Amino acid sequence: MAKRFKRAGGTGIIFVSLLTWSIGGVPGDRSWVEKLYEHTVKNSEAARAQGLISGAVVGVHPAECVKLRESGWGEDEVEDFMRWTADLAARYVAEGRAVGFGEYGRPHWDAGPDAAALCDRVLEYVLARARDVGAVVHLHLERRGEETVRSVAEIARRANARPGVVVMHHAEPQAAPLAVELGLVPSVPIGRRGELEEALRLEPIYVVESDYIDDNARPGAVIPPWSLANKIRRAVERGLASESYFEQIYINTETLYRALLHSSTDNI
Ligand SMILES: [Zn+2]
Repeated sequence: MAKRFKRAGGTGIIFVSLLTWSIGGVPGDRSWVEKLYEHTVKNSEAARAQGLISGAVVGVHPAECVKLRESGWGEDEVEDFMRWTADLAARYVAEGRAVGFGEYGRPHWDAGPDAAALCDRVLEYVLARARDVGAVVHLHLERRGEETVRSVAEIARRANARPGVVVMHHAEPQAAPLAVELGLVPSVPIGRRGELEEALRLEPIYVVESDYIDDNARPGAVIPPWSLANKIRRAVERGLASESYFEQIYINTETLYRALLHSSTDNI
């Protein structure tokens, strides 16, 4: 994957943990969480071996949190488990093996107010731990526009999160300006048809993502990273956006992962 991405003009790629069951694991099993983090770290190491800038974002998805709750775990048990996954992520970041936590956040479907409240408590803890170790945090969220942005900004404020490191993955373009204003980083998917065109109506205040899921059980769920790189190149060629527009997006990404870029420069 890394080779193809590089050939398409890609320079840097961040790997985010999937679900434990995407790699054949059991939800709620701590040893599978460790395997999941290792898997993500290995992907980023493989990309670096190809000469790409790369980092791992490790964590346990809110879908796992909801699943455990629905399978009969007590609220406290789920919360303890999720906190443990964040503590483990903090260790990976402190040891320089990962650059961020994720995905945490809330399910994108309506799982009920109690599940949302549980996810929010976990999220506040995650953001506080990420602040401790200087990590970026990738959030998976519902898409309720400004309401979602405001609610996340409020939790980030309570956790005393640093501005500019909390990424709203799969952000809606129309909610991006408010997210930036409130210190969050909108990551706009530009894989599916029409998404890039929609994003281009914005000022270059965001970062981009392929939202690619490397899971054989869900083939073609989203476009692969090399298609994203091609798409950006073609957009410039077709005059849809200027080179400096994408340069700014690159700068936004560079700012977000500053520590990562510096350490990778040291390695060269
Ligand atoms: Zn997600």
